[in-house]
Formats: sequence, structure tokens, C-alpha cells
Amino acid sequence: MRALWFAINLGAACGAPASVLAAPALAASAVRAPAAEAAERPNVVLILADDLGWGDLGCYGHPRFKTPEIDRLAREGARLSQFYAPVPFCAPTRASLLTGRSPFRSGMTRNPAPDAGVDDAGLPASEVTLAEALRASGYATAMVGKWHLGHRPEFFPTRHGFDEYLGILYSNDMRPVQLVDGEKVVEYPVVQATLTRRYTERALEVMERHRDRPFFLYFAHAMPHKPLAASERFYKKSGAGLYGDALAELDWSVGQVLEKLKALELEERTLVLFTSDNGPWFGGSTGGLRGMKGTAWEGGLRVPLIARWPGRIPAGRTSGEPAIIMDLFATVLAAARVAAPPDRAIDGKDILPLLSAGAPSPHEALHFFAGARPSAVRSGRWKLHVAPPERGGPPGADWVDPRAPDGVTLLAPYEQARPGEYPGARAGDPPRAGALFDLEADPGESRDVAEGHPDVVERLRRLHARLLREVEAAGPGGRQEKARRL
Ligand code: MG
Repeated sequence: MRALWFAINLGAACGAPASVLAAPALAASAVRAPAAEAAERPNVVLILADDLGWGDLGCYGHPRFKTPEIDRLAREGARLSQFYAPVPFCAPTRASLLTGRSPFRSGMTRNPAPDAGVDDAGLPASEVTLAEALRASGYATAMVGKWHLGHRPEFFPTRHGFDEYLGILYSNDMRPVQLVDGEKVVEYPVVQATLTRRYTERALEVMERHRDRPFFLYFAHAMPHKPLAASERFYKKSGAGLYGDALAELDWSVGQVLEKLKALELEERTLVLFTSDNGPWFGGSTGGLRGMKGTAWEGGLRVPLIARWPGRIPAGRTSGEPAIIMDLFATVLAAARVAAPPDRAIDGKDILPLLSAGAPSPHEALHFFAGARPSAVRSGRWKLHVAPPERGGPPGADWVDPRAPDGVTLLAPYEQARPGEYPGARAGDPPRAGALFDLEADPGESRDVAEGHPDVVERLRRLHARLLREVEAAGPGGRQEKARRL
């Protein structure tokens, strides 16, 4: 089935809509040179920030951080105010983004971590990534930045559909921090201060090189994940601390990408997406939402989403319809007129109608996870925590990150964000399994209203139970950690 699907999408590169091509026609069309129609399909630039909070951008209301280029992107496109990561930390969210599937389906429920002995976690070869799907239909594919879907060779981005790769294979605080080009380590230790600039230079070069054919560029920044870093041009210039400096450079990078698209006359033919993999760590901002990265509060899960595609997405649209990061898989495939792999469950939905025409959310419910375990369900204005939204607490105020980025280079150690700079709201009813919040009336999740709405609790529990049956029937990831029952 998978081979046939690849053949179908290769046929799509030759001009026919993937969904209507019959297999016998494929073999013939697949050997012909790509038709002109392939060139009309949009390029896709998917920019992912790391640990960027829902409240970190000017266009999401931050009072001090200056992000004029990202704000411009939002003005020229659409911005969603209720967009989510399915998991409040890195790897499972990234797997969902690239596969369109909840993490329990792929088994990608943990963060690979070379300095903690987690070397066996990685995206299985059986998953079909966005890069594989687009490449099979004629796209050039390139990735720049943080991968975090496995650091053994069999998991590399180059084994998952990317023609080329430059980046760090995991978080920028995991030792050894090495820069990899293709499959080769080219720098150790990494000079992180210049990383955003160098990533940007590669991204611009990729776009230039592929200006005459559809390309997919996945640009996954290291910033503003700790340890924070900024190049000399931005260091101590923002007036908003090292976090503000790092963010200013990231914003500059987005501006460079937009300028390059303009110079190459590709603006109208390029879908640009900007989002983050989870809520903020210390120093960032949830914009008043409760919690932070690692918690199932809104502050851990809700992230910005901006989408620009001139002529297809009206400028300046905003929407409060709930959507989730795996939707970008289905959305990009729909934009590129590439069929999704038919032999597996895809949880993401095409949200182009939401972005371009103000359609309602395609989801009856959004499900959130703590690793393989479901943690919360949102439907409409309601959110039910099926597990306690946080465990333990953040480190004490005197905590200092014990890890230098590589054990050699210390980056502005006294300017790194500390626990005193907690990014979200902390007040409210205590975290507990079974807590219900009305996100419309109470976006900060401060008043548990489960007692007054037994019908809502029951409805959300039923949605959760339906998902649990799928989790338990799923592959190894779903079985490794048994789902928690209410
Ligand atoms: Mg992250």
C-alpha cells in the first residue's frame, strides 16, 4: 500500500490530482518529466521556534519583546489564537507535526536525550513524514535546525525524506552539542551565539537554489530554548534581556526569509507557516495562560500559529477556532494537492478552509498527552483534565541550569533565564484529575467548574474514553505507558 501511495504521489507531480489517478496511469506518468503544473504548486516554508510562548510575540500582545517581522507576517496572513501542541514538550510534538498523527500512534512519546541515555527513541521508518510525502510528488526537501526525532543514523532527517540537513539533532542543551551537515558532524562544540544567523544563511541558500521547483523547507530554530544565545549584533540590544535578544534575532531571521521570497518573486507561490513546539520555559511568556512548558495547562500547550499565502489566505485574518499542530501535515498536503498516506490513521485535518475562509474548527475534540498518556481533552469552550495538569513544581528560585551547552562553552551564564522568571500564571484551583475549565470565560484555568457541569464532564469523558480505546489498541508507544483512567 505504501509503495502504491508513493507511486500515486509521484504521478501527482506530473500534473494529475493525486486522488483521481489510477495505478496503471501512474507508471506511465511517473517516468515523464514533471509537467508545468508541478511548478505551480506552492513552496512550503515551515518555521518552528523552540519553546516560544503563546504570549512571546508582539502580535500576540507581548508588551516588551519586539517582533516586527513576525508581526508583519501575521498582518499579511492569518493568525490563530487557539492553536495547540498535543504534548507540552519537544519530540512528540515534532513527530506529530511531521506525521499528522498523535504521538501514541508512532510511539514517539519521549524526548531522545544522548546525555541521559535515551538513544533508542526515534521516529520509526514506518512513519510517513511530510518531507517523504512531498518529495514523492516532486518537491525538493530541506531541513535546517533542531530535529529531535532520534540521533542514531537510522533516525536522521536524511532517512526521513529530507534531501539535505543542517542542524543539531536534539535540544541545544543536550551534550554533545554537535552541528551536523547531512549526516556528518561538522562542528563541535557549536558556537551557539551565531547559530540563528548561520541557520538563516543556509535557509536562504536553500530557497535560492530551488527557486525553479517546488520546495519544502522545514526551518526549526534552536531559540528560544535554553541556553539562550544571540549573535553580537543582537546581544544586549533588545532591552528585554537575553530572551528578548534571542527573540529579536529569530524575528530578524523570519524577516530575512520573507525578503528572500520577495527577491525571488516567490511570495505568491509560497505558503509560510510559523509556530512553536510547546509553551515557554523561564523568561518567556504564556500571555497570561496558566502553567508553562511541561504542564498540561494552556501555558504548556497553546502556541502561536501564523500562516501566509498571498492570494489564498486573506491578509489580517484572525480566528479563535481550536486547531492543533498535526493539522499542518494535512493542510500542507492539501495545499500541495498530495494525497495523505491511506493505510493509517491521520489525526490532523486540513485547516485551509479555516485559514482562508473562516470555517469552523474541523475537530469535535482535541486530545492532549503527557508522553503516551492522555492528559486533557478540549471540546468547544471546555477543557477536561483527565490527569493532574502538573506534577511537582518548578525548580526553586536559586536553581541554576547545571548543564552548560557542551561542557566547554559557557554562554552568558548569568543572563540565562531563572525560575524567578516563571512564564505563566500560577494562581487558581489546585491541579487534579477531573478538573473542568471554561476556556471562554476563564482562559487562565483558575476556576474548576466540574461540579456545576456534570453533563459537560460526562460528554468529555466519553470523548476521552473513545480515544483511550484507540490508545490501547495502538502500537508499542501506546502500550508502553498505560493510559490513565478517570
Ligand atoms: Mg520545545
